[in-house]
Amino acid sequence: MTDPDAPRDAADGAKDDAEAASGASGAADAGTVVELAKRRGFFFPANEAYGGTSGFYTYGPEGAALKRNLEAAWRDRFVTREGHMEIDSPTVTPEAVFEASGHLDTFDDMIVECPECGATHRADHLVEDNTDIEEAESLDTERVADLIAEHAIACPSCGTALADESVDAFNLMFETNIGPGSSSPGYLRPETAQGMFVEFPRLAEYARNQLPFGVAQIGRGYRNEISPRRSLIRVREFTMAELEHFVDPESDEPPIERVEDVSVPLYSAATQDGEDDGDVTWTTIGEALADGTITSEWVAYYLGIARKWYDRMGVDMDRFRYRQHLPGELSHYASDCWDAEAEIDGNWIEITGFADRGAYDLSKHDTYSDEDYSVFKAYDEPRTTERPSIDPDMSVLGPEFGGAAGDVADELAALAARDPSAFEGSEVAVEVDGETHTVPTEATGFAVREETETGEHVTPNVIEPAFGIGRVLYTVLDHAYREDEVEGESRSYLALPDELAPTFVGVFPLMDKDGLGERARAVAADLREAGLAVTYDDSGNIGRRYRRQDEVGTPYCVTVDYESLEEGTVTVRERDSTAQKRVAIEELPSRLAAFRAGEPFDT
Ligand code: AMP
Repeated sequence: MTDPDAPRDAADGAKDDAEAASGASGAADAGTVVELAKRRGFFFPANEAYGGTSGFYTYGPEGAALKRNLEAAWRDRFVTREGHMEIDSPTVTPEAVFEASGHLDTFDDMIVECPECGATHRADHLVEDNTDIEEAESLDTERVADLIAEHAIACPSCGTALADESVDAFNLMFETNIGPGSSSPGYLRPETAQGMFVEFPRLAEYARNQLPFGVAQIGRGYRNEISPRRSLIRVREFTMAELEHFVDPESDEPPIERVEDVSVPLYSAATQDGEDDGDVTWTTIGEALADGTITSEWVAYYLGIARKWYDRMGVDMDRFRYRQHLPGELSHYASDCWDAEAEIDGNWIEITGFADRGAYDLSKHDTYSDEDYSVFKAYDEPRTTERPSIDPDMSVLGPEFGGAAGDVADELAALAARDPSAFEGSEVAVEVDGETHTVPTEATGFAVREETETGEHVTPNVIEPAFGIGRVLYTVLDHAYREDEVEGESRSYLALPDELAPTFVGVFPLMDKDGLGERARAVAADLREAGLAVTYDDSGNIGRRYRRQDEVGTPYCVTVDYESLEEGTVTVRERDSTAQKRVAIEELPSRLAAFRAGEPFDT
């Protein structure tokens, strides 16, 4: 195991010096955050004792706490404040669900295998890495194979030409058997969404069949990625936070006034296609709807809500954008899709997908299962409609038309529905196989009945924001990373928002002697009792202890010194400014809570 306090390598040291002159700077070099994450217990590759398995990560104590806080912040914003409900459905799912959802047939990525070393690669990523094409995923397998040949792309592992290799579809779902034997295939869910769609009938009942309502879920998803890469960015098991907002397509509208003035950085399909490729336009949600850049009001609503949330999570808004799906990327059922993307190591990474999925998902389960996936929508007033019908006298039609009598009756029924006025005269004419047949009106049994309906069945549309928690967490860490100089020494710290910091306060005795240790331990215990996440540290000099906490993003540190024993006060130090002030021990829990609630440190 490496010493977490050991100085970083020479390259990092040189960078510290170069950037110290300009004060705190963000944008960590590639590898810095991954190295910090491993050294400080945020996350690291799983199962390394057994050689490791790529695409699986363990969150260490700091990372698990950060992830828990991030999930709590997501829940606060997208469940509690929106008034939605949250469920927790199984990850092992029977095959029938994915037959209905289409995952069995289409949840594929493109794979190409090296004929020499046998390594498998994501074919569309090879194209993106070696050409100017940004979104090769939307191309078909033949086109991607052609591009590999045209650009003479070679195997990244051994350099062998891949020009003659086929590009195939590879289904990303992990398959298993439910129970002994193989008669009941199942899959680890590749997204949490199906759990919310499949259980829709019960959830709708729970929502008293009133649209709109939203159901959220935070849970694991599994995808057998062809080439996992960039640590948490592309893994095979990850946590998703998904929201399915079920709305009446006819009448439900989002409270758009709440987000109309929110500014969003949009990278529209038109901009991606145009010459000013790469340019983001800052505009308000209201303007983007008015000029038609965003077409779905519901999607616009969540883009606004999420932009503010990302800001709250400390995502750097200069390294954040909403990218609209290009027409070729859109799923056939989705009308408008946008991805939240964050810039990491010079690459734009999708961290959330926002889609208006129409009625696709519920209609599919309605067709494939025995359940009803609609909601009965009562009218304000019962509606009475006139329904024309026929009841033909076959003792007249039979002898008159022989074998064609049945078809004549069918045509009469269709005509009655289409044009009841055709039955106003003494005879009605219909055409069967190009021949006109005339029927006495009284033999058709034509009548108009009044029917009263109290409502209708509606299949809701679904608006889906789908967050990848691991990618958001990685973004938060990367964007929070800072380097500066404190008293002539370079330091690195994580400027995490208070609500996300794994540890809220570090408590240190100046030294563990003369009763300072006991006093500091008592302070730590009181703060824990007050519900704060506390780390107690009495090893090494104070400067080193501060730096240890800075590196994991602890916003406040409390030092117990001799004055504490005499005066009952401690030094509180704020992470980003390194400013310090004395606070009475008995006021400590309430002052720290006030800082957490937004009170500036320098008051
Ligand atoms: P999708 O259903 O493909 O739109 O994915 C929803 C979200 O899950 C994405 O925006 C990502 O944040 C995240 N995600 C998808 N695939 C992976 C992966 N292999 N590893 C980590 N996160 C992922």
